[in-house]
This record gives sequence, C-alpha cells and structure tokens, in this order.
Amino acid sequence: MEYEPVIGLEVHAELLTRSKMYCACAVVDSTVAEPNRYVCPVCAGMPGTLPVVNQRAIEFALRVALALNCEVAPQNVFARKNYFYPDLPKGYQISQYELPLARNGFVLLATANGERRVRIRRVHLEEDTGKLFHIDGADGSVPASLVDLNRAGVPLLEIVTEPDITSVAELEAYAKKLRSVLRYLGVNNGDMEKGVIRFEANISVRAAGTTLLNTRTEIKNLNSFRALVRGCEHELARQTAVYRSGGAVQQQTLGWNEARGETYVQRSKEQAHDYRYFPEPDLPPVQVDAAWLAAVRSALPELPDAKLARFRALGLNDYDADVLVAEQATADYFDAALRAAQPVAPAVEAKAIANWISSQLFGLLNSSAVDIEACRVQPAALVQLIHMVQAGRINAGTGKQVLKQMFETGATAEAVVAERGLAQVNDSAEIRAGVAAVIAANAQQVAQYLSGKDTMAKWFFGQAMRALGGQANPALVQQVLDEELQRVRTQAGA
Ligand code: ADP
Ligand code: MG
Ligand code: ZN
Repeated sequence: MEYEPVIGLEVHAELLTRSKMYCACAVVDSTVAEPNRYVCPVCAGMPGTLPVVNQRAIEFALRVALALNCEVAPQNVFARKNYFYPDLPKGYQISQYELPLARNGFVLLATANGERRVRIRRVHLEEDTGKLFHIDGADGSVPASLVDLNRAGVPLLEIVTEPDITSVAELEAYAKKLRSVLRYLGVNNGDMEKGVIRFEANISVRAAGTTLLNTRTEIKNLNSFRALVRGCEHELARQTAVYRSGGAVQQQTLGWNEARGETYVQRSKEQAHDYRYFPEPDLPPVQVDAAWLAAVRSALPELPDAKLARFRALGLNDYDADVLVAEQATADYFDAALRAAQPVAPAVEAKAIANWISSQLFGLLNSSAVDIEACRVQPAALVQLIHMVQAGRINAGTGKQVLKQMFETGATAEAVVAERGLAQVNDSAEIRAGVAAVIAANAQQVAQYLSGKDTMAKWFFGQAMRALGGQANPALVQQVLDEELQRVRTQAGA
C-alpha cells in the first residue's frame, strides 16, 4: 500500500518589539546579552506583581493575522497555561486559549503541482520562556543547570496550520514563506540561528487517497529548515515502516537530535500535560475595534504575493521573481534600480536588471558575505553599468569585471572604465588585424577547421577575443572572424 504524509505545523515566532509582552523590560538578542540583565519582578515571576499587555505586540500580531488572511477576534482573552519548568518562573505561561487573536486564515503556495492552500487554524499571542544551560560536569566542574531570564516574557506568536500539508517539500515551502512574510511585516528578523522562529511539526501518514486523520506524533525543537525537513522525512519513513510491518503508531511527543539525525521520545500520550487553562485574572480582555484593525491593515507593506504578481507582470519568469521577492531588501533594490532606469521599455529593463542582480551581484555578495543593504553598488550605479553594456560602450564580459571593481571600491562604472581604459573596441580595422593575426599564428588549427572540424570556429573566437584584450565588441569579432575564415576556406579551395 502507498502512504501519504499529513502534516500540520506549529510555528513560534518571537515578536521583536522594544519591550516584553507584559512588562517594560527590553527585548534583547538573548544569544549575546549578558544573562539576567533584562529582567524585572514581573518577568521574574515575583508574587504580587501585575502584568500589562504590550499594545505594540498586539499590533504586530494583528499585522500577521491580516497578512495570513485570518478573521480577527474583536475581543482577545488571555489565559493561564499552568505547568512547572525551571525556565518558567511564574509556574504558568500567559497565553491565549479559547479565544485566540485570530483564526481561519490561509497561505497560498506555488508548488510543482500547482497552487496549494494551507489553512491557518489559529494565531495567538503568548510569552517566551527563559533559557536553560546545562553544565554536564565532563570537564571536572560541578554539574549544574543555569537559567537566563532575558528571554522570559518576550512576546511570542504561535501560528498553527490545519493538517493540510501533504509533502515535505510543501512543508518547507510553507515554512519559508511564513518566515518571509514575518520579515516583510517587520515583526521578526527571521534569524533562525538565534531561535527567533521555531517549528513543531505534527505528523501522520495514511493510505494514499483517503481522508483519514491517523494518530499523529509531534516533533519539537526543529529550529532550522534543515532540521524541519530531515526530522519530518525521518518520522514519515518511521511511521510508514510501522504500518507496513502491521504495527500501530503511538501518539507521542518527540524531540529531534540534529547531530544524530534521529528523533527520540520525550513523552507519550499517558504523560500528556494537563495545563489547567483558565482566564488570566490579572489582565482584562483586549478589544480590537474596527478602526484599529483598519489602521493596521492600511499600514501593511506590499507582501510577497503582491510583489510576485507585480514582478511577473513586468515579464520576469517565476524563478527570477521568486529570487527577488524572497528577501525584502533584494526586492527593494530591484525596485530602486527599476526607478533609476526610468524604463522606456519596462520589460526589457526589468529582465536585464533581474539578470544582473541574480547572476552577477548575488555572486559578489555571496562570496564576500555582504548583505545587499550594505552593498557599495547603488541601484542607480548598477543601472548605469547595464546601460553602458546595452549601448555597446563595454562588452558584457568587461561589464562583469567593472561590476567587481564597483563592488570593491564603490566607484561608478564610468570611473572604472575611464581609469582602466576598458572601453569596448568597436574599430573594425583593429578587430580585423587581431583576427588575422590569430589565424596566421595557428596554422594547425586552421587545417583542422578546413578538414571539417567546425567547432574550431568557437576556439578562434575565444582566441581573437583574448588577443583583443577581452574588450572587443563580440558581435563585431564574430562577424569579422566569419569573414576571415570564409576567406581562408576560399583560398584553400582555390
Ligand atoms: P495540540 O498540539 O495542542 O494538541 P491540535 O490538536 O490543535 O493542538 O493540533 C496541533 C497541530 O496538529 C495542528 O497543526 C494540526 O493541524 C495538527 N494535526 C492534528 N491532527 C493531525 C493529524 N492526524 N496528522 C497530522 N497533523 C495533525
Ligand atoms: Mg502542539
Ligand atoms: Zn520584565
């Protein structure tokens, strides 16, 4: 029997507001900040303190809810989720339960099998926990666990899908799209290595073509796209094997060991938590009126889907459009270049600019690990370079060299070309002399060419370009070379 995956994803994303969810402590990068510096009695869970809801966090959450096409609840109720763990000083997390901020949204994915819709079940606000560090004593020190509460109380958004995801590829596409949307909305920097986005995947398999929801397992601490993909592939294979051998999948919570590429059982159904949810008595419900929602909606930036559609309408293919849209900074760069070009023929300009960005500029950015925001080649300067190539003032090969110089020094294309004497050679007499010299110096290759080895024409072209210092007009070189080779052929035949 064939089995198919059924996956629902829970995503936890920190909302990068200035202050924490229920107190005035700063939200800091908890991977670098001095431990326990950004803590007050509220987020340290001291008895008698009172939480206050961070309005900005609600606004950030509303942005996400609207971007994910959700229905927003006009009244939001916070609840206590009770459990004990040393990284949770209050002994409960203030979360949302029966009345989440938003429900019933969807995300559209472009996949190899056409457009897919992943429904969003709920989006709710809660707070992050602190962080534990375990010292194992292997180096002779006393085994211990240390707790850092800088992260305790950081606003956390939980985004939960329906079990609509039907392959690991779709899962990855969904997760990447969600990250991109969060970054576009300016609510999360997407820095997965710092744990600001974390995944929990719920997984089951079923007989292909059926609609059954089988027993699922949940994999926690999947903190990179790679872990998400590997963890799910591993678990799907395991469950399929269990059914194939006549067994039954047990409902379990699993952990993911990245180093070993394996899951391990954290707890079984019998050990499931009972969180004893009840409405948070220290916080009044939050009212989200229509005016507030409308204001948030009207301030939303252009989102990836809308940008994709706009770029495609400019004539870019799906690949180019995707590459430009994935990061907002790249899309902004492209838009700025397009404005600088003041295109007479937008499609021509768009295609050329997209090509130069994705093939040349990306190469330079990647090899030097520079972000496009910090790139020394301004969009307008790139356009100037492209126009010089289009006008035949330099050839494309020289253009790449010029871009490298611009990238390293911040100089304009005009300056680089003038300083290094890189202007394209369009003088046909000079080109003819160069081509003739190459033919004269390579009698053996000429003989091969005449004996029917047509590929030698390409070789001669390369030699001629090189002889002319790489700066000759390639179309002209090709034309002159064709003429000269024809002449040689005629002479040989005579
Ligand atoms: P909880 O984790 O609190 O039990 P839910 O029962 O609402 O929450 O489900 C959490 C996630 O599990 C959701 O993303 C949902 O789509 C997914 N899910 C539910 N049933 C299945 C199933 N049979 N197979 C795969 N995913 C499932
Ligand atoms: Mg869950
Ligand atoms: Zn605090």
